[in-house]
Parts: sequence; C-alpha cells; structure tokens
Amino acid sequence: MGAGQGTYTPEISQHELPLDSRSRQKRRVIWHELVVDGVSLAFNKGKANEYRALENATLRVRRGDFYCLLGPSGCGKSTVLNLIAGFTRADSGAVRMDQQLVVDAGTERVVVFQDASSALFPWLRAHQNVEFGLTVQGVSNANAAERAMNYLDLVGLKDHAYKFPYELSGGMKQRCQLARALVLEPEVLLMDEPFAALDAISKRIMQKELLRIWQRYRMTIVYITHDVNEAVLLGQKVAVMRRGPGSAVKEVFEIDQAYPRMLTDGAVSKILAKIEASLEEEVGASLYVG
Ligand code: ADP
Ligand code: MG
Repeated sequence: MGAGQGTYTPEISQHELPLDSRSRQKRRVIWHELVVDGVSLAFNKGKANEYRALENATLRVRRGDFYCLLGPSGCGKSTVLNLIAGFTRADSGAVRMDQQLVVDAGTERVVVFQDASSALFPWLRAHQNVEFGLTVQGVSNANAAERAMNYLDLVGLKDHAYKFPYELSGGMKQRCQLARALVLEPEVLLMDEPFAALDAISKRIMQKELLRIWQRYRMTIVYITHDVNEAVLLGQKVAVMRRGPGSAVKEVFEIDQAYPRMLTDGAVSKILAKIEASLEEEVGASLYVG
C-alpha cells in the first residue's frame, strides 16, 4: 500500500519506483531522515536592525514524506527552506540527512519557488529551461532533450514544450518549473508556496497533479504554505510554526487520511479545525496572508 491508502512504506515504494532507474541507480544516497536540528539564525547580526528569525528550530522529515510547513507570514518558513536547500547557514544547530551535514546547495535538494516568472529563464523555451540543469551537469544534449520531454509530459506540458515562459499561463509556468526540478530527480523537493499565486481552480489542479507525481515517485517533499486548507489536503505531516521573532515549529500534526482528501470529509475537517486553532494562537484574529 502507498500513501494513498494511508500507510507509509518508504522502502518498498521508493525502491520499486525510481524516478529514472538508469541515472538514479548511480546517484542514490540511502538516507532515512532529514533533520533540521535546533537551528538558530539571526539576520543583520550585530547591527541595530538585527532580527532573530529562528530560535532552536527543529524539524524531522522522514524520507518519502509529504511534509507541510505552515505558519503566519514572516514567521521564518522560507528561512527554514533556505537552510535545507543549503542557501543559508545557521548561526547554531545543523541540517542533516542522517549523519551527513547539509552545508551547501546540492542537486538532491531542489527548490520550487512561488514566482515561476522569475524562476524560469525568459530567453529559453520551456524544454530548454528543463534541459538546462542537466546540461550543466554534463548530460549530453540528446539525453537531456529526451529526459526533459519525459518530464514535461509528466507535468502535462509536452504540447507546450517549445513555448517561451511569456507564452505560458501562470499554472503552465509552474508546471514548467516543476518539470525543471523533477528532471534532476531530487531526493528532496523543497516547495515554497508554489501554487499561492495561482487562481483557485489552477491551484486545485496543481495540488492534485503534485500528489499524483509524489504518489508515483515518492520523493520527499517539504512544502511551505500559509494556507491551512492546502496543508490539510496535501500533508502527511503538518508542522505549525510560531510567529517570530525566535520562531520554531511548535506543533506537528500527523494526517493519515487517504488521498485525494476532501475538506468536507468529517475526519479531515476535524484535523483542519485543530490545525487552524493552533495557527490562530499565533496570528490572533488577523488573516494569515503570506
Ligand atoms: P516567511 O517565509 O515565513 O514569510 P521568511 O523566512 O521569509 O518568512 O522571513 C522570516 C523573518 O526574517 C521575517 O521577519 C523577514 O522579514 C526576516 N528576513 C528574511 N530574510 C531576511 C534578510 N535577508 N534580511 C533581513 N531579514 C530577513
Ligand atoms: Mg516565505
């Protein structure tokens, strides 16, 4: 059984369903847990405008999990993501995949940003955007082209492969960015409010597509959102962060409901109410806009 049935069996699903058996076999690093371990981080250290963003923040993400990080605007969600991506270094504490310290960016951890327009290269066609990371890695042009097209197909963009980003809708751009991330066959997909800028229908469609891809390949996903509904529809775990300064994960909810989930489902709405209450403690009566 996979996550869709509510049971988590990482060894079976990940070994039976490699993203690309040829290339993944070579690069596979076996790990079990991604840990952000007691991390503290301040911006503008030692200056008058020093801001203590994170204080002793800890997250534990099991390999293959769909992990949602939920919190009010400005609480430090993107900062956590940047730490995991290796873009930022903590003042104290550490990020580890098992015993291996994360100190730098790496292709096993790939980020999907909210703003696809600025994430994609505007002068490259969709397929070239997807091929780019592979050719940088030294993959031959023909191989990169073939793999890019496979992933564009996976995200439903094959028929638009030769368009430039400006010719794509918001949802299509985000599909392209997703293909560009997936083609690198990352162990961990780091998604920073990836569908927040989409209209309601496109957002719902993209959520379903992402679940479909995750259930098929079972890469680990750390998914940042400020939207409780989204977190409850997607996450096996939903970690709620405190508001800053000195933010950290304050509570982690496990959701073992089968996918696809409906907010109207009794069990789902029950957990939604609990998570909402936890978040409301942080934001009070204000809206949690991201
Ligand atoms: P979130 O993603 O939850 O909205 P961020 O992680 O982007 O929040 O930011 C957390 C806090 O750190 C915010 O108060 C933000 O203003 C501050 N911050 C983020 N990046 C920087 C930076 N480069 N310099 C100074 N302050 C920053
Ligand atoms: Mg953010």
